[in-house]
Amino acid sequence: MKALDELTFDNRFARLGDAFSTHVLPEPLDEPRLVVASNAAMALLDLDPAVAETPVFAELFSGHKLWAEAQPRAMVYSGHQFGSYNPQLGDGRGLLLGEVYNEAFEHWDLHLKGAGQTPYSRMGDGRAVLRSSIREFLASEALHALGIPSSRALCVIGSSTPVWREKQERGAMVLRLAHSHIRFGHFEYFYYTKKPEQQKELAEHVLSLHFPECMEQPEPYLAMFREIVERNAELIAKWQAYGFCHGVMNTDNMSILGITFDFGPFAFLDDFDAHFICNHSDHEGRYSFSNQVPIGQWNLSALAQALTPFISVEALKEALGLYLPLYQANYLDLMRRRLGLTTAEDDDQKLVERLLQLMQNSAVDYTLFFRRLGDESAALAVARLRDDFVDIAGFDAWAEQYTARVARDSDDNEEQRCERMHAVNPLYILRNYLAQNAITAAESGDYSEVRRLHEVLTRPFEEQPGMEQYAQRPPDWGKHLEISCSS
Ligand code: AMP
Ligand code: MG
Repeated sequence: MKALDELTFDNRFARLGDAFSTHVLPEPLDEPRLVVASNAAMALLDLDPAVAETPVFAELFSGHKLWAEAQPRAMVYSGHQFGSYNPQLGDGRGLLLGEVYNEAFEHWDLHLKGAGQTPYSRMGDGRAVLRSSIREFLASEALHALGIPSSRALCVIGSSTPVWREKQERGAMVLRLAHSHIRFGHFEYFYYTKKPEQQKELAEHVLSLHFPECMEQPEPYLAMFREIVERNAELIAKWQAYGFCHGVMNTDNMSILGITFDFGPFAFLDDFDAHFICNHSDHEGRYSFSNQVPIGQWNLSALAQALTPFISVEALKEALGLYLPLYQANYLDLMRRRLGLTTAEDDDQKLVERLLQLMQNSAVDYTLFFRRLGDESAALAVARLRDDFVDIAGFDAWAEQYTARVARDSDDNEEQRCERMHAVNPLYILRNYLAQNAITAAESGDYSEVRRLHEVLTRPFEEQPGMEQYAQRPPDWGKHLEISCSS
């Protein structure tokens, strides 16, 4: 276990120099205080969880103090936002404080979001509010606990600094961890500004640090792009299988590592709705729940375009062609598991589609349905769940197919099947209304609810006595909350 001053820095991205990032010091927040910290994220840095309660912790992660070895940098990038190219992006309010490595020699970027203005702030104030910082913290750690790759969050530090959004709020900072903060938009930036040398340097950096196994391949850059395609197909399959809607899949928010990244007005589905749009400024539904699948491919094409100086168009197209089949295979595999199936049959895809259609028509809770389906024998479970469906005849027809399919599936007993299903079907997810309750309390200075919710979400598959209220459908007020996009 390490103390805070024992972190070991190795600032590999900073060493790329001024063409890639700009030195900027964090701008401190007033009266910093710990809102919440993640013990699991602390462990990634070998930090003793007790240090989170020390004053120096809040000072470090609110811009008051800095390690001598830290090299705070604002990264430059660009990207496609809602389909249009924006040449001027970059870390407008976040700083890469430095890279540290743990005892296992794993490097982690320490990224402080809400750290003040940078050369890339454009009209922005460089700040993040408490509300959005809590949402990012909870989502990062909840996704990780569900087995969905994501950037991690070490802590949220609150403050008394006023920040103006639709109304006056308070500034906060979230300390984000990831193996890299390089986005698709980094490659786009050097491609569209016609800086082939720097682009090559960036590509070499990513290849050697994050895709070393691709260096053994005959065409390392192509192997790396393929790997990025695969990781994105797997990531988006997980989002779709678990009902996660990102909301702002611009290419500047897409991680080169294929992890969930840059949280805005995201949401987990309550009722199943394929057309759900969590971002209320997304009027055309470009980033609706079901559109995440083709948008994943669109974003990869934008990255492919930026890689044309290194890889032939033909090879890029072929690699892009892997996306959909891989997505489909991964998604179906996850959905089979959610249904408790261990074998594959040709009609499984139809079984899933039919179920989702029925859930859509009856606004059935996406998470609880799967959880309940694994509570008891298939026959008893469907008999209990049928009341949730308006089209009872339709559900009965599905249930008959499903129970027959389960009977054909494996020799294990009902108990084993239930156990298997509970291990993949969460009871607790980060519902918008739960986050909202925690935020409302935190805004009045009570952090106990954020901390409790975070705790519950770290073990989403385990029934936790006394936590029943976190496993409920939303009350009426919490059903269609409009999450502000200003963060
Ligand atoms: P986002 O929508 O959070 O992914 O941000 C898109 C771009 O706007 C990025 O370049 C951000 O750094 C920048 N940005 C967002 N909010 C602010 C802010 N309050 N101040 C400065 N820049 C911001
Ligand atoms: Mg962003």
